[in-house]
Amino acid sequence: MLFGRNRKNPIKMVDKKAEKWTYATCGYCSVGCSIEIGTNADGKVVGSRGVGGADVNRGKLCVKGIFEYELFNSSGRGDKPLLRDSIVDSYKETDWDNATSVMANEINRIQETYGRDAFAVVSTGQLLTEEFYTLGKLTRGVIGTNNYDGNTTLCMASAVSGYKRSFGSDGPPGCYEDFEHTDCLMAWGSNLPEQHPIIYWRLQEAREKRSFPLIVIDPRVTMLAQKADIHLAVTPGTDVVLQNALMHVILNEGLEDKAYIEANTVGIDELKAEVQNYDPTTAAAICGIDEDTIRNVARIFAKAKTAMGIWTMGINQSTHGSDGVVGINNLSLITGNIGKPGGTSLSITGQCNAMGTREWSSCSGLPGYRYLENEQDRKDIGEFWNVDPDFFPTKRGLAQTDIFPAIETGQIKGLWLVATNPMTSMPNTERTRKILEKLDFLVVQDSYVDVETTQYAHLYLPAGTWAEKEGVFTNTERRVNIVRKVTDAPGDSKSDFDIFNLLAKQFAKTKEMTFPETPAGAFEEMKALSKGRLVDISGMDHDLIEKQRGIQWPYTQEQASKGELPPSGGKRLYTETATFRYADGKAKLIALPFIDNNERPDEKFPFWLNTGRLVEHFHTRTKTGKLGNTNKYSPIPFMEINPDAAQSLGIEQGEYVRCVSRRGDAIVMAMLTQRVARNAVFIPFHFFDCVNRLTLGLLDPHSRQPAYKQSAITIEILKDQQAAAQMSMEMRRF
Ligand code: SF4
Repeated sequence: MLFGRNRKNPIKMVDKKAEKWTYATCGYCSVGCSIEIGTNADGKVVGSRGVGGADVNRGKLCVKGIFEYELFNSSGRGDKPLLRDSIVDSYKETDWDNATSVMANEINRIQETYGRDAFAVVSTGQLLTEEFYTLGKLTRGVIGTNNYDGNTTLCMASAVSGYKRSFGSDGPPGCYEDFEHTDCLMAWGSNLPEQHPIIYWRLQEAREKRSFPLIVIDPRVTMLAQKADIHLAVTPGTDVVLQNALMHVILNEGLEDKAYIEANTVGIDELKAEVQNYDPTTAAAICGIDEDTIRNVARIFAKAKTAMGIWTMGINQSTHGSDGVVGINNLSLITGNIGKPGGTSLSITGQCNAMGTREWSSCSGLPGYRYLENEQDRKDIGEFWNVDPDFFPTKRGLAQTDIFPAIETGQIKGLWLVATNPMTSMPNTERTRKILEKLDFLVVQDSYVDVETTQYAHLYLPAGTWAEKEGVFTNTERRVNIVRKVTDAPGDSKSDFDIFNLLAKQFAKTKEMTFPETPAGAFEEMKALSKGRLVDISGMDHDLIEKQRGIQWPYTQEQASKGELPPSGGKRLYTETATFRYADGKAKLIALPFIDNNERPDEKFPFWLNTGRLVEHFHTRTKTGKLGNTNKYSPIPFMEINPDAAQSLGIEQGEYVRCVSRRGDAIVMAMLTQRVARNAVFIPFHFFDCVNRLTLGLLDPHSRQPAYKQSAITIEILKDQQAAAQMSMEMRRF
């Protein structure tokens, strides 16, 4: 007789008859899982699987990766360039020569009429790094606009800004392996199980082998908070107050690492003076964490042999995002927890190649973490690209979130959007809609023709996606990993790399630059430019990257020529004394006075609105909204609301409600849960015409990243549930 588990039928995997498996890196989140894509005898893509020997995911994938192969047959793909006919106001198919010629002419016309910066470029975190590099070369070296940014301003700008302010350069100093060494992990606004499931699995595995305290700071009882030893349900937008209070305790009780501070940092006196204003009793009244817990957590963190801080959008998407990152860095620095196994300050990035754009796109500077503000950097790149260094601006132009208001006020007349969908992703949808309608010339370059933003375009350029192309991504732990081409892009669509090269040729009549013709050629240019830099990739090549299942930078030519195999490259940064990127080699401890400038709940709008992501979906659902298995698990917009709040409003589980803010309204289904406080709700950010109709998105002064997570709303019951259901379905888009 069979008992328990043995009585059940074993799970049977359908044999999809894959005959060939091609290596790639997952094209969704920044974890950077190694994935293989199966094709059958007819060359049809039939499956995805994790790669067992890859250090990042060790054979595993999350739900998005498992079904990622379905992308190649998803609906809504663009397969021809489309040009709007202004007389009949509809699109007509055109060929690439005409499309790129019209685009180059319009860019020239706008720049000649209104100035170089009147044409703006906003790209993404989802291109391959070689494509970012080529777009940067085209934008900085040929088009010459300074209003060039990535949509990474919506997710990672605060991390970049905070790293630069603390360490003198961007570049996360730690790695996933640090989970295996740490004695305490503090997670700030990071819900790993839903946002970065495979990193979460690495963390859980480390905790199962070797228990260490997990402290989660999040206003919401997220999945990660449910696994925490200590959960601090901080008042939205007050992380900096909590950080200051923790430092107050550490410094006042003499728990800091004095030798490390002395050898590696400047600014301790100013920091000490500032945190005196944040004794735990005072801080508790602002951040909502009781004073004993503040003291307890500060002591646990400071007394741990090694401790690490990680964070995601809960810190970044705030009016104090950059300060929040600096605060985490401060905590690591005063306790001597940078550059050692288990002791680090690690931003968990969002998109698959948010790091690649930071390193090589030239969005906020020049390639390889070079600065426009630095004369030598301008000279080096000018010589390498054959561009007069004086052609480069001497300081960074507008961020994405400032480009849109500049369109509103008429400073910017033309915009090129590459693989980004601001109609769904930007705060205050109505304002974004009016801004896009104001443009003289909008180009949308995207794999999908049916993204919401396309309807405002004058020109649409169809691009290949993910493994329809070849090149590298960099993940959150600085691991460069490769995507090999599996199949062709549909119809007449082209890789982004080829589109940039076609455009470069349109401008080549007047400019003396050469562009590599292949991604491998672009990678060689990046390698040459990386030599001796923090982001040194000169020892890598595409084949070695695949062989090693990804290599963390820095990995130098010297290491490669000595035959030192990765990971002798860069598991960690700043491992030696005083090797930070400021001229004196020392990191800055920066005092962080707290200014309370968020929109807050009041009598008229009594609920905090928090936004975030779901495990099944990626960003604006451009891809995952099309895939049966991911969309099926999470098909409609909903709102988490506390059962007590729901009861007081007369709202039942599963009813549709109308949320209203000072900007607009949205219909969502109510899901009753204790995960949110009585005065707070949570709505996922993936759906069109939904939560971003409500958000305010005040900007961080350093990073220009919007505060998506601190808006105020009210909630109305809807009498006609059938009509509400219909409206909610319309928001599904697909
Ligand atoms: Fe892809 Fe991220 Fe899931 Fe890994 S965790 S399979 S990188 S979406």
